[in-house]
Amino acid sequence: MNPKAAAALPKGGGFLFACENEPFTPEQFGADERLMADTAFQFAKNEVLPLLDRLDAQEEGLMPGLIKQACELGFGGPDTPEKYGGLGLSKAVATRILEKLSLNGSFSTTIGVHQGVAQLPIVLFGSEEQRMRYLPRITSGEIMPAYALSEPNNGTDALSVASRAALRNGAYRLSGTKMWISNAKWASLFTVFAKVDGERFSAFLVERDSPGLEVSREEHKMGLKGSSTARLILEDAVVPQANLLYLEGEGHRVALNTLNIGRCKIGAMALGQMRSALHAAAKYSKERKQFGRTIASFGLVRQKLAEMAARMFAAESVLYRTVALIDSAFSAREASGDEYDETRKACEEFQIECSLTKVLTTEALAFAVDEALQIHGGYGFTEEFPIARLYRDARVMRIYEGTNEINRLFAFERVMKRGLLDALRDGAPTCPAHEYLILAARNLDASKPLGQELTACMSDLTLLTYAQQSANLRAERMRRENVQFADFGVDAAKQFEASATGWAAARCAEALARMGVKQNVSLSSAGQPRDVADAVLESDGYPL
Ligand SMILES: Cc1cc2nc3c(=O)[nH]c(=O)nc-3n(C[C@H](O)[C@H](O)[C@H](O)COP(=O)(O)OP(=O)(O)OC[C@H]3O[C@@H](n4cnc5c(N)ncnc54)[C@H](O)[C@@H]3O)c2cc1C
Repeated sequence: MNPKAAAALPKGGGFLFACENEPFTPEQFGADERLMADTAFQFAKNEVLPLLDRLDAQEEGLMPGLIKQACELGFGGPDTPEKYGGLGLSKAVATRILEKLSLNGSFSTTIGVHQGVAQLPIVLFGSEEQRMRYLPRITSGEIMPAYALSEPNNGTDALSVASRAALRNGAYRLSGTKMWISNAKWASLFTVFAKVDGERFSAFLVERDSPGLEVSREEHKMGLKGSSTARLILEDAVVPQANLLYLEGEGHRVALNTLNIGRCKIGAMALGQMRSALHAAAKYSKERKQFGRTIASFGLVRQKLAEMAARMFAAESVLYRTVALIDSAFSAREASGDEYDETRKACEEFQIECSLTKVLTTEALAFAVDEALQIHGGYGFTEEFPIARLYRDARVMRIYEGTNEINRLFAFERVMKRGLLDALRDGAPTCPAHEYLILAARNLDASKPLGQELTACMSDLTLLTYAQQSANLRAERMRRENVQFADFGVDAAKQFEASATGWAAARCAEALARMGVKQNVSLSSAGQPRDVADAVLESDGYPL
């Protein structure tokens, strides 16, 4: 790529001081891509939803059968290259497919792990021989993979794993315990992280029938009951030397870059479940009567529906903007460079956006399931309605793939490490939350350690800026191109702006107080809330 073209490419964190001209939005999907997404949606609706009780009871063979069926439709590896049996689609289209498959948490986690963190290490860092050996079997659904990083005593602090590997007589011997491994019950291949000789953090492809490997009992979880989560016990498990993934001592690159892209997969999974929550809330509010009227006619119920839809609109705008940016980084990889270095750079470019996307989408989901349950009143607290399961299943989304606390801290620490603070301070605001972020950034003394509490305030301001900006740019484009539901988009963005501006003002005030800066933060730029409840009620849920 010539230097001029390279300089014109979007850069990670660029939203902090300017907007790309036209961020990608879901309205840009072509007819074929919509058709594929709709096939995924119909599959989830017709094949998965009728089985939820049986899936939650872990009926033998049911979930693996569904995964096989989904793989036969091409959903085993939508963004995996065709050469390895995938569909070779962009990350944006693959994300839409996963979103539409994700109407239920258990199925979403199982297929999300299959397509995502469990397959990505091989796609991104496998040798050609490893890719050819495993990927066609994974994408076709012949085998299921799993990703084994966490341990009983090392969760967030994942790079300090206690698992050990030693090379003896041409094979590695792995020992340790891996905890919380999704898909473990059904998986035939595990990406396991361990330290060679107690020092070099490395990734290994471990087949299920390796001597010394045992999958232990299922965890008794509060939600996602239809998914499998179990421990792996490795006792001198024998792993051929050829199954070292990438390089000894470079396992952190495999682990962290996989999680980075995985965070957008989580975003898709969260949006799918949000769609279910809005559908349940809209439907119930039209049926339930109190005081002789449907509860959908009450202002406070309408306000909940409107805010849920607005947050979903913002979360969706952020997710598709981020994955399209990652697509741009992947397509800019230099064919002449080292393939793995180029891939690593592409994965890392939009780390800030990936972490923000994970936090925004999962917290929008948390809000949606909570308010949807509230709309159900006491009935929401029973298993009679689907919202109880959605509520339970959603809870873990703020915990796995890096807790939201860690993603918050990471996002703003990256802003500082990438040297973006000066450009942020000098930039012109692109939305109200951005004004508060710039105000806080101008007062920040970066020569002193910020502490976690202040970092989290700055991160929230960063997150609200990214969300408001993305929602507004999308709404503006919808209006300009006069697409279907453009009015809804414009009103949803306004509604989000009104609520997010209030939150940004509060976070800015806290940030300044923590810095010891005495300054009043006014709320003058908060927009007028818009009522998008009619659109939600007419569409029986999220209209787009
Ligand atoms: C259903 C389920 C499926 C999972 N699937 C997988 C999988 O397939 N593969 C896999 O490897 N793992 C998986 N995990 C593990 C998951 O990634 C971890 O649970 C997560 O990383 C958190 O680790 P932990 O549970 O040990 O919590 P801890 O790390 O003990 O954290 C506890 C609390 O302390 C906070 N905390 C920790 N460190 C800090 C810090 N430095 N600063 C501020 N706060 C901090 C956390 O945010 C959290 O609130 C799964 C977990 C669940 C529940």
